[in-house]
Amino acid sequence: MWSRSPIPSRVQERLSRLVSLWTRGILKERVEFKASAGGSRREQVNPSYSSQMCPSCGYVHRDNRKGDVFQCVKCKHADHADRVAAINLKARKDDSEIFLFTPKERVKTILLARFTARLETDLGTVSGRTPDTVSGPSESETAQAILC
Ligand SMILES: [Zn+2]
Repeated sequence: MWSRSPIPSRVQERLSRLVSLWTRGILKERVEFKASAGGSRREQVNPSYSSQMCPSCGYVHRDNRKGDVFQCVKCKHADHADRVAAINLKARKDDSEIFLFTPKERVKTILLARFTARLETDLGTVSGRTPDTVSGPSESETAQAILC
């Protein structure tokens, strides 16, 4: 026979939320302690797309990551997904355009612009070839890739 909990679900949800906040607080304190003990400090950065962006070419796509494996669909750069995210998060700390509370959509726009600019710069430096003769994703393909 199904028995009802003596604690109403509304109270259970509130308790669950409080325990979650308490756990996060302990985790935050522990990370700060460990960082200071190791001569480091903890900083929060905007995590948007950090696990989907290639640290080598800047290409952003959800297909770059499959579980713990990161492999860029453009340049084939491969690494552990957590390491890639850590590299991108470290770089994000000094970013002049992406801040902690920059909306995710804005981050997407910034990353798109950077990848497109980098692509155009790379195409411009290929001697004897114009952007029209060099194969690569078009601007619309790039936008679509980052918007995914
Ligand atoms: Zn890449």
